[in-house]
Amino acid sequence: MEENTVMERQLPFEIKAYQEELLRRQLKYLSEHSPFYKRIFEQHGIDIKSINTIEDLSRIPTTTKNDVQTFNADFFCVSKEEIIDYCSTSGTLGKPVTFGLTDADLERLAYNEMRSFRSMGVQKGDLVQLMTTMDRRFMAGLAYFLGLRKLNAGVLRIGSGVPQMQWDSILQHEPRFLIAVPSFLLKMIEYAEQQQIDYSSSSVEGVLCIGESLRDASFNDNALARRIKEKWPIKLFSTYASTEMGAAFTECDAFMGGHLHEDLIITEVLDENEQPVADGQPGELVVTPLGIQGVPLLRFKTGDIVRRHSEPCACGRQTYRIGPVEGRKQHMIKYKGTTLFPPAMHDLLAEFPDLEHHLIEITHNSIGTDEITIYISALQPSEQVLQRVKDLFRAKLRVAPTVEWRSSQELQKIIFNPMSRKPITFVDRRNTSY
Ligand SMILES: [Zn+2]
Repeated sequence: MEENTVMERQLPFEIKAYQEELLRRQLKYLSEHSPFYKRIFEQHGIDIKSINTIEDLSRIPTTTKNDVQTFNADFFCVSKEEIIDYCSTSGTLGKPVTFGLTDADLERLAYNEMRSFRSMGVQKGDLVQLMTTMDRRFMAGLAYFLGLRKLNAGVLRIGSGVPQMQWDSILQHEPRFLIAVPSFLLKMIEYAEQQQIDYSSSSVEGVLCIGESLRDASFNDNALARRIKEKWPIKLFSTYASTEMGAAFTECDAFMGGHLHEDLIITEVLDENEQPVADGQPGELVVTPLGIQGVPLLRFKTGDIVRRHSEPCACGRQTYRIGPVEGRKQHMIKYKGTTLFPPAMHDLLAEFPDLEHHLIEITHNSIGTDEITIYISALQPSEQVLQRVKDLFRAKLRVAPTVEWRSSQELQKIIFNPMSRKPITFVDRRNTSY
């Protein structure tokens, strides 16, 4: 794939026309090679020659995670001999979903991340420390490695965890950038303070932050980003990607959402009735990756709620940007005319360093609307803290949840469930009988 830095600076209508040309190619490819989409086109009487614009896409049914899981093999467009790398994601029905990448797909992935790194200022000759795993069939770590290689940047593959090993490598090799989960940076800071490592004058200038949001819907730093930057004033670039998309949206140094890579993916942002929402409004991200050979998807519903921003960016790129993921569609809470998602509530609770734990519970009340209950614990519970939590929710999110103290032990039992790899801080009881 040729490097494309010209197109992203063309006018938006030119970018759109270019994407539509790629879309027509993609539809032709799917109609010839994809058992799943051949069937969809046939069942719905869709003549792909009549789909010429991004707007025309609405005539094709969307693809869900369940579709990809149930008919996984039918999404493969090439024979097994052509697959170089196998990636998998956890599916909604328990069994992992498999994706196969051809040699060209790996090249496309490298190109995608090369552009991401460029937008955050990584250059040929820079050294970057990779603080995430490359194995276990995850796509991300491999993609970063391939992208840096294509950019001719150096890579230090440390993997996740172990602050001591991370610091040893930083002090010895002096990388300019890191790729890390942002909450792990707090552990790095804590370790550096214990060991009296002068982290603020280290070689690190910026971090590609994966897996967690750094900003709210208006691009203000959330509590996590602020806690890191208060101690360690480095640039934190957010990136959003998934195996299904095979493309990343990575922030430039304007920090106003991740830019589209126009030759790799088409996006739609849709409401509950699958109608497009206006730019700047929240909706579900639906993606059509371009140029994938192995397992290409068409109008795939990500379940992620985002906003698209199309006003010009300070960096000069004309491509639109995708704002932070505000939540998962199935976790949407409707509260007296307000729509909100758990991450915004977690962010707000992170403003209270005195709280040890919190648990958000959503229930349906007798009149069929959602109720929010927040259980909190602290070393010294007080009425004042409880009131401040309530006040902040009313002021910032315009909701009045029930807030109650619980003992630490009681919350820990639910939060650190041995059956779950991740802490459970959100419980949705709306679809159960109690
Ligand atoms: Zn920009």
